[in-house]
Amino acid sequence: MNTADTAQNEGSSGFAKSGELESKAAELELRNVSKRYDGQREPAIGDLSLTVPAGEVCVLVGPSGSGKTTAMRLINRMISISSGDILLGGRSVLQRDARELRREIGYVIQQTGLFPHQTVGENIATVPGLLGWPKQRIAARVHELIELIGLDPEMAGRYPAQLSGGQRQRVGVARALAADPPLMLMDEPFGAIDPINRSRLQDEFLALQRTVKKTIVFVTHDIDEAIKMGDRIAILRDGGRLAQYDTPREILIHPADEFVARFVGADRGIKRLSLTAVGELKLAAPGDGAEAGGASVPARASVKDALSVILTAGGEAVSVIDTDGRVLGTLTLGVIEQMLAEETAQAAHEAASGVRHADGATAGAAVTRAPEAAA
Ligand code: ADP
Ligand code: MG
Repeated sequence: MNTADTAQNEGSSGFAKSGELESKAAELELRNVSKRYDGQREPAIGDLSLTVPAGEVCVLVGPSGSGKTTAMRLINRMISISSGDILLGGRSVLQRDARELRREIGYVIQQTGLFPHQTVGENIATVPGLLGWPKQRIAARVHELIELIGLDPEMAGRYPAQLSGGQRQRVGVARALAADPPLMLMDEPFGAIDPINRSRLQDEFLALQRTVKKTIVFVTHDIDEAIKMGDRIAILRDGGRLAQYDTPREILIHPADEFVARFVGADRGIKRLSLTAVGELKLAAPGDGAEAGGASVPARASVKDALSVILTAGGEAVSVIDTDGRVLGTLTLGVIEQMLAEETAQAAHEAASGVRHADGATAGAAVTRAPEAAA
């Protein structure tokens, strides 16, 4: 945790100084990608174009069969593309040696795919070993990664079967990060984990990403996970058609169509509350007529989580505290109401003035269209 926070404050170079990690990341671009499996009438992916900026998390979300796993396998060339192109760091993956390419792309899947007869340390060392790193460098790297994912160093000698499901997923992430790949593909990585541990893994992974700043394609069928994890979300519908590619905020405030609106759910107003941290709100000053009860929430907590605390406390206001425990202000239902009113007013204003098409969503839409502009 601490490492992540320090590294974030100092930028990635601060972390690099402390060890091997350099934090490589590359832009990923899918250009009119299509995939038709042999013997299938309809393509699994029709004509998919999207760009993931270097160092961002793109969540691919969509119903089962919408082509999410297919898209991942096209990127690392486990399956062949039917038409179009995929560029990693501006270079077509089709022109690369497939095995060499795969060593540059971290891959994490639901059941981790750890080698059962190898120790945790040996599993993490897989790609550095294939790349012929000297033994000492590999050992240092394994040690560093085990620390980075918050496991006890003595775990290096354990076998996957001796770990919990959550620990195995952490090792899977460490193994994927081992050779500092510029791109990570994560296919429903936390899908088989119970909800409480899943939420913890998500938080840890976000903290880790603040340190390593990889380009990540993260697949899920869970819209809540997509909203939590994604800098941008690509919503796919069947046939691998892109329904919307935008920031979570834009998708919740301006769903592109009926399909997206239904996919994000009727409770998208509530979901919006998870996008804002209470520390960002105009809090009431302590002693400003709004007296907080006994409860407090950290400034980093989402408005959604804070609302839950307020409701549990019978509607009483709560104190918002910083990491040193200092009270920053008081959060009341009125403060939340005001935030929603302001957002709604702004959305209405943007809809009326067409601002939306000049920026905002638009950051995403512009990125989606970049391939055509470049062509
Ligand atoms: P998702 O990961 O979104 O659930 P997939 O990418 O696995 O979707 O599948 C997309 C479509 O391609 C589905 O209709 C699926 O049946 C089909 N498909 C996936 N793999 C194969 C395969 N190896 N051969 C034929 N069809 C496949
Ligand atoms: Mg899948």
